[in-house]
Amino acid sequence: MNEWVRLTQRVAWLTPSEETDRPGLGYIKGSEASAAVDGGNSLKHMRLFLKHLREERLAVPTFTFLTHWHWDHIFGLGALDNWIVASEETKKYMLPLQDQDLEQEIRETDYQIKEEFTDEFDVALRMPSIVYKERCVFDLGNLTVLAQWVESDHTADCSVFFVPEEKVLFIGDCLYCGADHGQYYLDRLRYLTLLKTLLRFPAELYLDSHRKPITRERLRADLEKVSRIAEVSVQYPDVGEALRFLEAENRFDVDDDVAFYLKAFENGEKRNRGFTGNP
Ligand SMILES: [Zn+2]
Repeated sequence: MNEWVRLTQRVAWLTPSEETDRPGLGYIKGSEASAAVDGGNSLKHMRLFLKHLREERLAVPTFTFLTHWHWDHIFGLGALDNWIVASEETKKYMLPLQDQDLEQEIRETDYQIKEEFTDEFDVALRMPSIVYKERCVFDLGNLTVLAQWVESDHTADCSVFFVPEEKVLFIGDCLYCGADHGQYYLDRLRYLTLLKTLLRFPAELYLDSHRKPITRERLRADLEKVSRIAEVSVQYPDVGEALRFLEAENRFDVDDDVAFYLKAFENGEKRNRGFTGNP
């Protein structure tokens, strides 16, 4: 379940939980101001975050930075009354949500987040008031936050937040696939470029919203592995053949992840061709 973890001197993290699709929530503490990363998947979720802040005697965040517009990252924003910071693109996706019947939409879907609202639909949206196009720097007092938009298949509005003094990068969901008509996809080049972009930040810890923190070493190893999978997927467009080749090559464990990437790249390729079936 959601646990409060102090990751560095000035960065804390409320860990994610899969059961009700709660992402991890970040806290960044400067000497003049503080910030939250993401707004929670419900008011309950955000209130739990605030409860931990009270227990730790930490100030209510001056800013809330949004990694992207997806429901699980913004539904609890109404629990606070602070400055919401997001990319222009994120705000563009969020604005129409104000006119949607989100409760009904959730009831009609079988998304995991439905489980968060078995008692009541406690959602309160607020819109960003500070927006940036590609990047923006915040001085929280002896502590800097660099907000940076990145290109990802997950959604077009992904941002990452770098705290250089603590060597921490909040990466949201940017490493996840895109989904189109129920098909998961990744564009090879975009994905590899994204991994390289993340590694260009001199971070030691990468905070993914739904997984355990990723070390720099691990991310570098992932880049190496995924680069090889991508190469082989070009050479062998058939997923089965590519898997057999990688197994025979024996460079790394050919686990479910490998099959997943091959399938996602294959779908990405199809999507790039516009589903026409033409090469
Ligand atoms: Zn997402």
